[in-house]
Amino acid sequence: MNCIHTVQAKNRYMGRLPRGSDILKTITELCRREGIRLGRVEAIGAVEKAHLGYYDQQAREYRYNQLDRPLEITSLSGNISLRDGEPFVHAHVTLADSDGRTYGGHLAEGNIAFACEFMVEVFEGAPLERRFDEETDLYLWEPSS
Ligand code: ZN
Repeated sequence: MNCIHTVQAKNRYMGRLPRGSDILKTITELCRREGIRLGRVEAIGAVEKAHLGYYDQQAREYRYNQLDRPLEITSLSGNISLRDGEPFVHAHVTLADSDGRTYGGHLAEGNIAFACEFMVEVFEGAPLERRFDEETDLYLWEPSS
C-alpha cells in the first residue's frame, strides 16, 4: 500500500441543502467558501431527479444514467481532496424508488435536492492531491513518496 495518509479530525459541518439545489455543486461551493481541503462527506434525503455516473473501464469514460423522478437518498458518501489546487468532492450515492429498488453510482452534477441533510467532516493533514493516472485515465490520489 503506497498511498496511505494519516489525518486528524478537525471539525464538522451539519446542514440542509436548499430545495432545488444541485448536491455536488453546493457541497463543492461550501468546501471552497470554508476552505475545506481534506475531509469526508455524507448525506441522506431525497432528490427530485438524479444523474449518476458509471466509469466504463474498457472505454475509459463515464456513462451517465439520468433518472427524472423523485428518489430517496439512502446513502451518499464521499471524500474531499484537491484537484488542480481546488477542493474536489468525490462521492457515490445510492437512491431508492417507491418499491425500494435501488440505483447507484458516481455523484455527477444534476442531482437536484428535494430535501438533503448533509455532514462534512474536516480533516487536518498533508494535502491529498489528485493527479492524472495513465493506467486508469482517472484523476487519482498520488502515492506519497
Ligand atoms: Zn466515483
